[in-house]
Amino acid sequence: MNSHFQSWLGDQIQTLKDQSLYKVPKILEGPAGGRVQMNGKQVVNLSSNNYLGLANHPKVVEAAHRAIDEWGVGAGAVRWIGGTMAIHQELEERLAKFKKTEAVLVFTGGFTANAGTIPAVVTNKDVIISDELNHASIIDGVRLSAAKYKKSEGYVYPHKDMEALEKILQNTQSFEKRMIITDGVFSMDGDIAPLPAIVELAEKYDAFVMVDDAHASGVLGKNGAGTASHFDLYGRVDIQLGTLSKALGVIGGYIAGSAVMKDWLINRGRPYLFSTAHPPVVAAALIAALDVMENDPEPMERLWSNTRWWKQHLEAEGFDTMGSETPITPVYVGEEGKAQEMERALWDEGVYALSIVYPTVGLGKARIRTMPSAAHTEEDLQFALEAFKRVRDKLGIGLVAR
Ligand SMILES: *Cc1c(COP(=O)(O)O)cnc(C)c1O
Repeated sequence: MNSHFQSWLGDQIQTLKDQSLYKVPKILEGPAGGRVQMNGKQVVNLSSNNYLGLANHPKVVEAAHRAIDEWGVGAGAVRWIGGTMAIHQELEERLAKFKKTEAVLVFTGGFTANAGTIPAVVTNKDVIISDELNHASIIDGVRLSAAKYKKSEGYVYPHKDMEALEKILQNTQSFEKRMIITDGVFSMDGDIAPLPAIVELAEKYDAFVMVDDAHASGVLGKNGAGTASHFDLYGRVDIQLGTLSKALGVIGGYIAGSAVMKDWLINRGRPYLFSTAHPPVVAAALIAALDVMENDPEPMERLWSNTRWWKQHLEAEGFDTMGSETPITPVYVGEEGKAQEMERALWDEGVYALSIVYPTVGLGKARIRTMPSAAHTEEDLQFALEAFKRVRDKLGIGLVAR
């Protein structure tokens, strides 16, 4: 081993520790759920994206068992080389119907879908225009592309600022193509992108739109079909990304849109071309998850009634939920050190909720990020609320005016 390299790694880790940015994942010792066994302790988990409780829904688990018996555990190869399994095709057809788009292409993750799609749909004659709070996987996808995209060159607009977006569109008319890209639901603030205004501007200035619905899939729109469905923008968003890893409870990402775009991505989306397909059991479990979403309204109703309960009770206790409109509920703290102190105190009370600090969010905008889900009972949320109140009283934090 190269001692220069190894000591460089050690120095980097020490720097992270010095800056309180060093992460150690906790060990989940059983299935995902509202209450979990973690690091030897029973806790209420407010940090999971298992919005609908589908990660261990009995129907999904049963479908997975059957699929393993029928299909085995591996796909064997990249789809265009080894042959694409019928069950992968079936999942894509089901997703296209669900999204009301011509076609869907599945990637192995939401991150991969961004990294595979964005660079494939633009060239060095194009520009990508981004919201400043876009997710890391969008940013990485954008960086892999040959297009212009940099904030320093004026192609990033302040969060949800439609006047700024319009100015950028006016200033970029010489590019061949222009893509506007945004999260549907912003992952740290829980607010919803102004998609109708974005689509109108795109139509006015001949741009096209890509929306990343990772946190809107299963959460917003008809049966959880996402932000385009939520705003009734069917047929007006060129590229919709959804994740199969969060509300759908398994793993994967997909791109929904036109048949010709799917054709292009099959031929030019690099993770599709050079990375092996999901195990067939993944597709089977996802088809069962879609069955639940389309036929049983109860998980989504519970997700939203729990979300309303949680926000109302936090706000009644004086906590600031930062204008969140979705299950992602930040609890504003402000100072980085205080948010980390609050996270530790909540853990001691049996509640697992992470602090989110700079550089994930702006300096001085630290928060505890909570996510109620259909997997929580009212007792779970009541328990968590009592913990938040005790920590607030004990540490004198959580009641900061912004
Ligand atoms: C989680 C997330 C992704 C990545 O999805 P995975 O399926 O977990 O890879 C992409 N975009 C956004 C906005 C996300 O929150």
